[in-house]
Amino acid sequence: MSDPTRHDLLQRMIEESKRMVAFTGAGISAESGIPTYRGDDGLWNKYDPVKFANINHFFKQPDYYWNFFKEVRYPVIHRARPNKAHAALAQLEQKGKLKTVITQNIDGLQQAAGSQHVLELHGNTRRIVCLKCGQCHSMEDVYEQLDTRLPPLCPDCNGTLKPDVVFFGESLPTDVLEDAISASQSCDLFLVVGSSLVVQPAATLPVTARQHGARVVIINRDPTPLDGIAELVFHSSASEVLGCLV
Ligand code: NAD
Repeated sequence: MSDPTRHDLLQRMIEESKRMVAFTGAGISAESGIPTYRGDDGLWNKYDPVKFANINHFFKQPDYYWNFFKEVRYPVIHRARPNKAHAALAQLEQKGKLKTVITQNIDGLQQAAGSQHVLELHGNTRRIVCLKCGQCHSMEDVYEQLDTRLPPLCPDCNGTLKPDVVFFGESLPTDVLEDAISASQSCDLFLVVGSSLVVQPAATLPVTARQHGARVVIINRDPTPLDGIAELVFHSSASEVLGCLV
């Protein structure tokens, strides 16, 4: 372990905490094989976010998104499994330490690791919703259509299908955001794991937590603009730091 003293300090901060919240981003799932958006191996170095992640483009040219889903998104998320960092957060919840995981991720891996209380700020790509009848379908069911029908249609009503995720140009779900703000305001320890902390409004949550008296810890491979408000910062792999906690 590179710095046992700081790991001990994190362990002690967790032991002292009564209401801990974790805030996760794409970096926690990088070691499960899901590329982040930003960083050297991020998706945005290969794909244009204006095309695959923008709601106007989705409606204008749905084939572009569904091809991206078929070739890139689905194969990666379908085979991804939770890693040690997801497991550590799930165990901290089971021990009664961690109250809530607020996640920007759309991969469902935190729930797959066993966490019960997860607030998904940006939705979940495993759910595909029909914009006409409101029915949800699994991504596996929709994927099966893609060889013969692109864009895919709702099997129940032939309506337009959309992944249940927040695209650029869409608002975050109000109820989830309110719960996330409330959890950030009432926690005493706010643990950021694997987020560049540049996407708004999600990245304001560590600031909210700090302003309400919480201690902030950031575990992210690269520096973030909010490192200065954190009591403890690890520029390391999420599973390396969290894996030795529990
Ligand atoms: P981001 O791509 O902006 O930043 C990811 C950060 O993770 C980087 O700063 C990088 O230094 C760090 N990182 C990479 N590997 C790491 C590791 N092993 N351990 C610790 N840190 C590591 O991601 P973001 O801040 O979550 O924001 C971007 C948006 O990306 C979110 O809205 C999210 O919906 C979306 N996204 C989600 C997934 C997913 O669900 N897995 C994947 C890609 C993008």
